Amino acid sequence: MKITYYGTGAGAGIPEIFCSCRVCEHARAHRGPNIRTRSQAVVDGCLGIDFSVDAFMHTLYGGLDMRQVRNVLITHSHHDHFMPADAISRPLWEGEPMRFYASEKSGKGMRNAIESNEKAYREGRRIRTSDYAPEMHFLEMFTPVQIGGYTVTPLRARHAEAVDAMLFIIQGEKNILWCHDTGLLPEDTKEYLKNCGISFDFVSLDCTLARGKQITKSHMDLEWCTETAAFLREIGCIDDHTILALSHIGHLVERTHRELEEEAAALGFTVAYDGKTYEF
Ligand SMILES: [Zn+2]
Ligand SMILES: [Zn+2]
Ligand SMILES: [Zn+2]
Repeated sequence: MKITYYGTGAGAGIPEIFCSCRVCEHARAHRGPNIRTRSQAVVDGCLGIDFSVDAFMHTLYGGLDMRQVRNVLITHSHHDHFMPADAISRPLWEGEPMRFYASEKSGKGMRNAIESNEKAYREGRRIRTSDYAPEMHFLEMFTPVQIGGYTVTPLRARHAEAVDAMLFIIQGEKNILWCHDTGLLPEDTKEYLKNCGISFDFVSLDCTLARGKQITKSHMDLEWCTETAAFLREIGCIDDHTILALSHIGHLVERTHRELEEEAAALGFTVAYDGKTYEF
């Protein structure tokens, strides 16, 4: 199984457009893995995770081929994770619809847009120029579903409760736990994980904040990533074979890619960057 990260930035990416902090200036000067666009990943080249405001950028410069992706899991409807306007503007490819999956609160904007387009076609106010058929499916917390050959189970994130932000267990040949965006795991998610009996091969954790500067409960820093990893180990969900990757990194982390990489490696984490593929 493999996972490719196309966007590993937090809400504003790195460098932030108007920012002159050390991390943003370093990214402008050195580019490479210091540049971070907004959230998007693809599992095995076919199962998408998030479709952010930078999906077009990933298509242009990152080698992303959305024509190969038939199903996309959306963690939540913040713009750095979901941009319905771009998700709707894609022609059909080989007759198969494009399916997006999110909580009802995160996906209802997309569903409304699809319905209003269809109404406009019926009433002749809009001309259908392609057969594109995007579908918006709603997911329930803690309820496994079969999506494109994978078993996907949404878990509650400690993040954006108003739109029911979701974490995902993705089970294919191997097992992935996707934890973006979130602070420390909520109790019901911990309870689910304690009883799930799954050994994860790959875990992706939110590392938005500078170590020790937990300025919000909705994201994590290296300390909380370490605490989360310790919990997962204690309940038997991870062990030494598990790859623990950090992503959703903004300038708030106060480290360049290399600085974060060194600090994270000492704690057992690898740091994802735009374009990075992990195989396991
Ligand atoms: Zn985010
Ligand atoms: Zn900055
Ligand atoms: Zn968010």
